[in-house]
Amino acid sequence: MVSRVIPVDTFDLVIFGGTGDLARRKILPALFRRFVAGQMGPGSRVIGAARADLDAEGYRQFTREAIEEFGNGKAYDPKELDAFLEALDFVTIDALGEDGWADLAKLLDVGKITAFYFSVAPRLFGELAERLHRFGMATPDSRIVIEKPFGRDLASARALNESLAQHFDESQLYRIDHYLGKETVQNLMAVRFGNMLFEPLWNAQYVDHIQITVAETVGVGGRGDYYDRSGAMRDMMQNHLMQLLCLIAMEPPAKFDPDAVRDEKLKVIRALDPVEPGDIVRGQYSETEELPGYRAHVGHPDSRTESFVAMKLKISNWRWAGTPFYLRTGKRLRARTSEIAVVFKETPHSIFGPEAGRHRNILTIRLQPNEGMDLGVTIKEPGPGGMRLVDVPLDMTFADALGPDAEDIPDAYERLIMDVIRGNQTLFMRGDEVEAAWAWTDPIIEDWEARRDEPQPYDTGSSGPDDSLALMFRDGRRWREIRA
Ligand code: NAD
Repeated sequence: MVSRVIPVDTFDLVIFGGTGDLARRKILPALFRRFVAGQMGPGSRVIGAARADLDAEGYRQFTREAIEEFGNGKAYDPKELDAFLEALDFVTIDALGEDGWADLAKLLDVGKITAFYFSVAPRLFGELAERLHRFGMATPDSRIVIEKPFGRDLASARALNESLAQHFDESQLYRIDHYLGKETVQNLMAVRFGNMLFEPLWNAQYVDHIQITVAETVGVGGRGDYYDRSGAMRDMMQNHLMQLLCLIAMEPPAKFDPDAVRDEKLKVIRALDPVEPGDIVRGQYSETEELPGYRAHVGHPDSRTESFVAMKLKISNWRWAGTPFYLRTGKRLRARTSEIAVVFKETPHSIFGPEAGRHRNILTIRLQPNEGMDLGVTIKEPGPGGMRLVDVPLDMTFADALGPDAEDIPDAYERLIMDVIRGNQTLFMRGDEVEAAWAWTDPIIEDWEARRDEPQPYDTGSSGPDDSLALMFRDGRRWREIRA
């Protein structure tokens, strides 16, 4: 059983871009669930701020519809929804103009925790920060939540950091990578640093290699225009997969405190070797009988943007020298799945002889679906006939292990928003981390651009281009199957 003490805070949360897709699908439903969980203290308010010509009543209706559509399908008491909607307000505001700002300033209570969620295009971040300052809302107590993408290269990330730093201290900035809000991702730290079992083996001496896969079945959908300017490297690898890599590879921080954790993550990024072009495979999904291929999807017949990328990385430090990390992510693949697999080395000697076969322990951490983890253990195959060995999973699906409590696990946005309110930055990216990740990514993308590198086509429903399989085969290894 899990025992929880739920702290209650009173706060104002202003959502710039409060009528956008992200607010509708994620932020507002997440806030409602935290309200139902009793975490929004009396007097808390959620204030939508966007260009739309709405009043508070109109925003309540907008939010009601958002929760009905995206509220996880869970049953809720309509009275609770009414009570939540009472806490809502709306201000029509233009991030690039002067309208609405004085109204917003008047609405806010001095001395209350105030978070400003920048759920708008990144080009508006600096404008919002400057106006919050000019209209007297940038106080030492205010917190800024920033959505991805945080830049598209080192120069633009730096410029964003600088524009925010003019008015806010780093301790007030919460750069969201929603992967860090996932229960399993935090469990990764609990497993590594809360058990004696794994950490002594967590190094190049015992780990053969580590695989990280984030596979989607969907194509670029309605985001074609944005995606084509970004690609899998910028959209997924530089942030989400890099964050997973950091958590799996970092040294134990001295304590679970925001800067201690982020210092260790930063060291991992800085220890990454530059990637050889031969250690990277890029792909683009082809058309099927029913579905358009990538280029038709984004409406750019010559596009060289990748919808898939796989790479082999090396971390040059004492712990990991000699253990490769294989990362891949892509769209229109065989199944929607995200997992990390830590593949241990074979035993140095088999007492059971060659007939017993070759076996390895694999610790798999499943981020989605079926959040959980399993440890592949080698045992004797039952029955007579000698010592034949077989690998079986010690499986722990959280929903089974934790029982009904698992159903109440907050989703990533719920957790991250409440962390902002509590002032806990552990699960948010620090400015120097983001810049280090771009500093590592930039030369890779610049090299593709200089060589006019063409991604390889791959079939919808496959595991990506054949060369991505070869990336591991040539090292005598293989990817784990992509399956739901
Ligand atoms: P959207 O286009 O659906 O909504 C944009 C919002 O910004 C609207 O509320 C609009 O009124 C407001 N807005 C636009 N210009 C404005 C201005 N000048 N002044 C004030 N308000 C203005 O966008 P979205 O999908 O909600 O995305 C918002 C941000 O979140 C983007 O940076 C996006 O990259 C990021 N993001 C979105 C998703 C997602 O699933 N939608 C996921 C991750 C990150």
